[in-house]
Amino acid sequence: MSSKIPPEPADAALRRAAPPTVVYPAGTLPRPDMAVLEAARHSMVKIGEVVVPPRDARTFRVARGQFFRIVSIEGPQVGDLNLWNAHDLSERFFSGKTRALHATHVGAGHRLWSTMPNLRPMATISHDTLGWYGFDADGAGIHDVIGTRCDPYTNLLLGGTAYDFCCHSNLCRALSAELGLGPSEVEHHIHDVLNVFMCTGFTADTHQYFMKASPVRPGDFIEFFAEIDLLGALSACPGGDCGATHSSDAAACHPLKIELFAPDRRTLGNWTWPSPSEYHGGHGAPA
Ligand SMILES: [Zn+2]
Repeated sequence: MSSKIPPEPADAALRRAAPPTVVYPAGTLPRPDMAVLEAARHSMVKIGEVVVPPRDARTFRVARGQFFRIVSIEGPQVGDLNLWNAHDLSERFFSGKTRALHATHVGAGHRLWSTMPNLRPMATISHDTLGWYGFDADGAGIHDVIGTRCDPYTNLLLGGTAYDFCCHSNLCRALSAELGLGPSEVEHHIHDVLNVFMCTGFTADTHQYFMKASPVRPGDFIEFFAEIDLLGALSACPGGDCGATHSSDAAACHPLKIELFAPDRRTLGNWTWPSPSEYHGGHGAPA
């Protein structure tokens, strides 16, 4: 933050009047065939579930062509989701590109994209019971890809205290248990999350990231179709509904449930499975 604002040039108003252009127009993205997914989800049967305790995280595996839901149970609660290619953890959810390709908040019909060099949909959101919320008068929406995840480093930086049950640490412990490795050996795999059920935006005046109490209620869910074999990890954020605080034991916190479903494979006969990016250039470096 600069202490001295420089004087405006004479043509400031003209420069500010340039029209906005959507960086990645949504219409140019290959669209998922939601009618196929709708038929598939009506044929699916539940094959498993995992309960994520408050202020903790759990991993889960979903095969390509299966669905998974993140379900609110017991009370309003925000979840932090990480996703990896189950066979190669270097391919993981790319929050920044998902935001650029879709929007600050995602919902049904949007896809969760993976990191380069693959850059492909890892999962497609097939249903969202909070789809009615849209953007409210504060400019807030649900399921953001703008935040990162609460972590002990930022907590120490801002608050001067160490707290070990932030989403980053919860995800570390869960992945550590899944892979049979120490937390420090898996920490580099933890990445920017999808903030499931979190209600967030930017303040109108200073454009600072804000949160407000999530409108999620028990029974609400967001549902995903797995485009590749996935390893997932979900943290039940210590902020609870993130209405006031996070990164502490102060907020009321509830469990979340992950439900796994298998559809009738015949319903997916016309599905176009995403391939890794076809870019195989040399980034302009001399051969
Ligand atoms: Zn958190």
